[in-house]
Amino acid sequence: MATLRTIDDLDACAKRVLVRVDFNAPVENGVVTDDTRLRAALPTINHLLDQDARVILMSHRGRPAGKGYEEDFSLAPIARRLEELLGRPVQLAHDVTGLDAGGKADDLKPGEVLLLENLRFDPREKKNDPTFAAELAELADAYVDDAFGTAHRAHASTTGVAKLLPAYAGYLMKREVETLTGMLDAPERPFVAILGGSKVSDKIGVIDALLDKCDTLIIGGGMCFTFLAAQGKGVGTSLKEDDWIERAAQMLDRAREKGVDLLLPVDVVCADRFAPDAKTLVCGVDDIPSDMMGLDVGPRTCERYAEATAQAKTVFWNGPMGVFEMDAFAAGTRKVAEAVAENEQANTIIGGGDSVAAVNKFGLADRMTFISTGGGASMELVEGKELPGVAALRS
Ligand code: ADP
Ligand code: MG
Repeated sequence: MATLRTIDDLDACAKRVLVRVDFNAPVENGVVTDDTRLRAALPTINHLLDQDARVILMSHRGRPAGKGYEEDFSLAPIARRLEELLGRPVQLAHDVTGLDAGGKADDLKPGEVLLLENLRFDPREKKNDPTFAAELAELADAYVDDAFGTAHRAHASTTGVAKLLPAYAGYLMKREVETLTGMLDAPERPFVAILGGSKVSDKIGVIDALLDKCDTLIIGGGMCFTFLAAQGKGVGTSLKEDDWIERAAQMLDRAREKGVDLLLPVDVVCADRFAPDAKTLVCGVDDIPSDMMGLDVGPRTCERYAEATAQAKTVFWNGPMGVFEMDAFAAGTRKVAEAVAENEQANTIIGGGDSVAAVNKFGLADRMTFISTGGGASMELVEGKELPGVAALRS
């Protein structure tokens, strides 16, 4: 595969560098409540500032209507938090590619930082409109893409601008792509993949791809019930996708043919309804009552999954083992998260929005080798798709 051009290949001194970041951070009452995404972009921004570049940052945030400025979606709170993190002023343009942005970009001196307003105030961003990409490119001499989380979408600020300016991957983009492709291309073995979450249908591409790569595939979460149904078990009122039972059965066969050890739960935590205070029952997978739903994997399953995880040299985990948002059904996800954290000999890679939230909730984030910042983007990459935002940076 063609190599990724990275920020290390760019001499940024005094240049105007347009940087696509993912500053889609939660804001409450005008204050950023979780600055993880801002921090993730700091190595790239600081590197450019060290080189005395003129740094022009751009991002989307939330889902504005795409009809111009909306105060609720302004990047003003982001600019304020970023000033604190960088320890220097961050100017905010009051438009995206209008007179204010153009003027401020022109006046920018080496070592100064400008943040454009929310890209999605302009309807042309998501349409990947070439006129918008051209207006963005007009602001700068070079382009750096550090927004891995948006790399699976071809938008004007990603693939559009990358065609018009010399384009490079930032450090976050580079690390995401190298870690995830490295895991797929040359994993240290045994490679244990742990998949959970809600539906088989959401993850079918990921399961398919991992079946070709891993030695052990552990399945939990809502999706396990479609697999159990494929084995002819009754799963009560658990989440089950009838249209996917056949496909799940084929995957069980494929795992057998490929010699992949596919692990399914042996026991589950059932509930009489989907609620934190539901009546619960732990039972074997052959004894799920017809009027109850499985909302977590059971304790014997946790032990088996932890044992398998402890053998691994590479672990990829996506998708919680149960409804971890409710304490009564969080134990399976917590146990698996702990088992992954405790395996210090392995490269441990976590992907997916809710799995990452779970790891954070249990305070285990800093014990993992790598936590992907891109939910959808990391899933598509694991599925083996070439992401348009990444392809645009290869040569
Ligand atoms: P990720 O964001 O990590 O890729 P998903 O979005 O696929 O994960 O799935 C996460 C959701 O799956 C969580 O909201 C969780 O409550 C739900 N879930 C997990 N196990 C079950 C289950 N047994 N029944 C219903 N929902 C489940
Ligand atoms: Mg999710």
